Amino acid sequence: MLNKRIEKITIQILDEYKINELPVPVNEIAIKRGLEIKAYDLGEDVSGVLVIKDGLGFIGYNPTESKVRQRFTIAHELGHYELHNKQNESALFVDKQFKVEFRNQDSSTGEMSREREANAFAAAILMPEKLLVKEIKNHHFELSDDDNLQELAKLFNVSVSAMTFRLMNLKLLSQY
Ligand SMILES: [Zn+2]
Repeated sequence: MLNKRIEKITIQILDEYKINELPVPVNEIAIKRGLEIKAYDLGEDVSGVLVIKDGLGFIGYNPTESKVRQRFTIAHELGHYELHNKQNESALFVDKQFKVEFRNQDSSTGEMSREREANAFAAAILMPEKLLVKEIKNHHFELSDDDNLQELAKLFNVSVSAMTFRLMNLKLLSQY
């Protein structure tokens, strides 16, 4: 699946629920999509799971990880649900401490793996381009300034590294 398509799907979801406030209420979105969310003892090396049984979806997240990480995990599992499993009656996704960062492929025909797709979905829904541009402008943030970058990440309730990769993928921040 192309990154552009994933961006479009997340915008449609955000528009459907008229979400304009920050931080993006990802749990609320997942619940509205029919998913149940629960803290779950997954073992220390598992960040999250998506279970679909008899057409009903359940997201389990690891409560011992940081809050921003939990949010990203829930967004990632929602990505699997929206992009990969919606029509399935039963499916199981188990995510071991996956990396938050991903790079967009330069080639416009570059297809992404499912894990990269779920990460792209998570980044796009937690940090919508439109809201990012608006906040950067309103706050007069200088993205080369570490304090500003941290403040921006805080507004969106994401980690600084997730924010940095998102800004690079959107070409709002130049790659190192
Ligand atoms: Zn995954």
